[in-house]
Amino acid sequence: MYYLGIDLGGTNIAAGIVDKNFSMVAKGSVPTGREREYTDIIRDMADFSKRLITDAGLTTSDIEYIGIGSPGVCDRENGILLYANNIKFNNVPMAKEMQKYISLPVYLDNDANCAALGESMAGAAKDVSDSVTVTLGTGIGGGIVINRRIFSGFNGMAGEIGHTLLIADGELCTCGKKGCWEAYASATALIRQTRAAAEENPGSEINRLVDGNLDLINAKTAFDAMRLGDDTGTRVVEQYIRYLAEGIANIIVMLQPEKVVIGGGISKEGETLLKPLRKAVKERLYYRKDDVPQAELVAAELGNDAGIIGAAMLGMQGGF
Ligand SMILES: [Zn+2]
Repeated sequence: MYYLGIDLGGTNIAAGIVDKNFSMVAKGSVPTGREREYTDIIRDMADFSKRLITDAGLTTSDIEYIGIGSPGVCDRENGILLYANNIKFNNVPMAKEMQKYISLPVYLDNDANCAALGESMAGAAKDVSDSVTVTLGTGIGGGIVINRRIFSGFNGMAGEIGHTLLIADGELCTCGKKGCWEAYASATALIRQTRAAAEENPGSEINRLVDGNLDLINAKTAFDAMRLGDDTGTRVVEQYIRYLAEGIANIIVMLQPEKVVIGGGISKEGETLLKPLRKAVKERLYYRKDDVPQAELVAAELGNDAGIIGAAMLGMQGGF
């Protein structure tokens, strides 16, 4: 049996077919065209799914179900996308609309939850039953997995750890609240912090790396400057790691998962990020001795495939 996972993003609709060993046997993507009506976007999702199935040499009867990971807030029970900012979907009956074109069961969940489920079943947390996956991107995506099932609260909205408070009355967040963790520890926040440091220290390696064009600063620039021995770059990275550590320590204090998986582009820094981060997180726990096992901090393993693989596994969690 095979499972089809779709990761609906603001830019692309990525989809893949996963076998019972959680390996991807086919994958691809088409542009979302997010300004369009939801009916057009969902028809494309269905058409592309059918094409993937045919290209893999399969038929619809080989597919057990379709799982969809979507940005925004989902009513998982009824397969309705209640709200998604970046694709302008409001109360969209995703499952029902998909089933107009393909007669298969359809499961729906938030994309960060799907990424967490993917890492839990087939990636960096596959050897443990409880994990939290934190994806550092434009915002901070969070997914809580307990006993290998997504935990999303009674209303489907749990796990939005990017919007927990880091600093009261702090930086304005995209959600309209002030001081959210993601306003300090997302990739977007790191870029903003790098830029501010470059403006204050025009002689830094940061400025040289982008030839003075601060618009070219990305989430890697401060790390690159640090690797060149630059004081400004080093300070930006150290401060960013402190912000990141505060939020991760909060997750650990609250949930004590066996693993915290760090994903998103910044996680490609590997041990350059993780080694100082582990130390900074440990300093922030309320119990720091080694006589009890502590949550392990690891880099995500599935990259962009986590969302597709996790979506393809939504139906394996049991009925909802
Ligand atoms: Zn927020």
